[in-house]
Amino acid sequence: MQFIKNLLVNYLKAGIDTKNYGEINRKIFIINLFGLVGMSIILAMAFTASYYHNYRLAVILFAASGIFYLGRLILKFTGNYHLSSGVILYSLFILMFYLVYAGGVNNTGPLWIFMIAPVTLFIGGFKKGLMDIAVFLLITMAMLFSPDEILLATSYSFDFKLRLLLSFLTVTFLSAIYEYSHQKSYQDIQEVSEKYEQLAKLDPLTQLSNLRDAINKLEYEQNRITRNKSQVGIILCDVDHFKAVNDNFGHEAGDLVLVKLAEFFSQHIRKQDTVARWGGEEFLVLLPGFNRHMAQVFAEDFRRQVEQMWFPEVEHITISVGLAEAMLEEAPNYLVHRADNALYKAKAMGRNCVVLADKEAVMV
Ligand code: GH3
Ligand code: MG
Ligand code: MG
Repeated sequence: MQFIKNLLVNYLKAGIDTKNYGEINRKIFIINLFGLVGMSIILAMAFTASYYHNYRLAVILFAASGIFYLGRLILKFTGNYHLSSGVILYSLFILMFYLVYAGGVNNTGPLWIFMIAPVTLFIGGFKKGLMDIAVFLLITMAMLFSPDEILLATSYSFDFKLRLLLSFLTVTFLSAIYEYSHQKSYQDIQEVSEKYEQLAKLDPLTQLSNLRDAINKLEYEQNRITRNKSQVGIILCDVDHFKAVNDNFGHEAGDLVLVKLAEFFSQHIRKQDTVARWGGEEFLVLLPGFNRHMAQVFAEDFRRQVEQMWFPEVEHITISVGLAEAMLEEAPNYLVHRADNALYKAKAMGRNCVVLADKEAVMV
């Protein structure tokens, strides 16, 4: 029993990739399920047709079940879900055209066309699905209502054709409403989760990247310089005597200083740079493509401009800066540690200055 369950689950999971979005993996799973059910039903129909000596229908049904299996193989070996679902869907269309054309067993073949609406909408989504269904319907109608049934190998009553058409339109309408509302609620969920994802990366006071986001970006840049042999500079800025700012002007005035500093930092970096609130009154700036000298010029300019800034209530503040250029294959925490050591030196040197990190720094 467990063996059969494992076999089935493995079958249905072919082509699923953890790198895909959940929605795509869900579709791949259902395409596999649909392919399996479709293939089994078509195979059963093929055997039935052979039993009734309808060999032409049997051959076509065997071929169709083979094409369904081909769709699964494409998914398994290429992971191309669009190609695989296209193969399954359009071969289903062709099979339906054939059933309408030939009538199938006792002229009941056309009844299978009802499955087209939900399957097409599921595979193609609302817009593309409706377009595909419109094409399918036009071709089916052209066959059914061709003068003297010239495009049919069998004959249906006018009432049957009309009812088939009307009930197909009803099923399409209901399936389209379902698909539309599903798509809409999926989009809403997606937007909400993106919003929360963004919020989880931000520091609420300054709206800058928070520590966690900064560490992620740092790791990303470190991997990139190791891969591309490029450069990245980091700057750690700490407000001088900030405790005194709070003590003398109040915590709220201190907050306003942090917000204004954050705005200044954000306005003075390039698009590819990151500025993050690293701690209380400490900021980290990540400068991809900058070597130590470029970062030093940048930091010195920063420090000078902050010195000249005017803050309501507090008037003036200064910052001390430690900077470092990342070394190849250096662990991000080691890089930060070197910049932090440099910042510590800047404080020891009397503050309001920039210090470049040593290439070697001892981890403590
Ligand atoms: P130094 O020049 O050595 O950096 O002195 P400092 O006073 O800036 O350093 P210290 O680390 O002693 O004090 C940092 C202060 O920053 C203490 C803390 O109350 C304040 N602080 C931390 N986060 C916030 C915040 O979000 N808002 C405000 N207003 N103050 C904060
Ligand atoms: Mg500090
Ligand atoms: Mg400080």
